[in-house]
Amino acid sequence: MFIDSHCHLDFPEFQSRLPEVLENMRLAKVSHALCVSVDLPDFPNVLKLAQDHINLYASVGVHPDYEDAPEPTYDFLVQTALQHPKIIAIGETGLDYYRMGDRSYESMEWQRERFRTHIRAAIVSKKPLIIHTRSASVDTIKILKEEGAQTIGGVMHCFTESYEVARAAMDMGFFISFSGIVTFKSAKELQETCQKVPLDRMLIETDSPYLPPIPYRGKLNEPAWVSKVGEFIALLKNTSIEELAKHTSDNFYQCFHIDREC
Ligand SMILES: [Zn+2]
Repeated sequence: MFIDSHCHLDFPEFQSRLPEVLENMRLAKVSHALCVSVDLPDFPNVLKLAQDHINLYASVGVHPDYEDAPEPTYDFLVQTALQHPKIIAIGETGLDYYRMGDRSYESMEWQRERFRTHIRAAIVSKKPLIIHTRSASVDTIKILKEEGAQTIGGVMHCFTESYEVARAAMDMGFFISFSGIVTFKSAKELQETCQKVPLDRMLIETDSPYLPPIPYRGKLNEPAWVSKVGEFIALLKNTSIEELAKHTSDNFYQCFHIDREC
């Protein structure tokens, strides 16, 4: 059984077809999915998914790309995370300098402050972090270290950075999650990185509705297709699909401190 460690089932793309999407998960042997929060107005929908479905989990947090979104306070993140047992993580949070454009480094301070708030809340609430990093890996690792994120750990989601960045994150106890991007023909470097990341530090995800893996490119991605990411990585790492599924599922439970149901 596979687990999708990162999806956005609350997004409008899924609204009318949730029963079908859940059934597709079952058919593809995808046992669980983590629904990841990106902003506060949408957060109640993320939480409701986890409360209504035994095999869905939730996180709480505000994405670094959502510049004008209401800012989450430290108190809100801690209280919300502690209030609901199915909230298993804080995020997604992190840094994204990709859209910075002409703006100065200093003008992105709000993003770094928001990131620090999430890390502090994660440490106190003992809920691991879901990290998004794009064009900002040096600062991401630096801030994680400065804030002591190794005491709580978490996952580097939709990983597209170098092995050195993966190594630095793993040294702080983080897991590395690969999405459908690893199946793309253009992703040779990422495939090499994936080969080097040990099976016991790896998660898999869809980031659906985005980034459908081969052979579904151009379609709307969904959690069932994490199985395609898993099958691809099994081949890449010269291991069986069962072995890959077992490791990545065990890692998911370990990463998010979940007592595994028998
Ligand atoms: Zn995401």
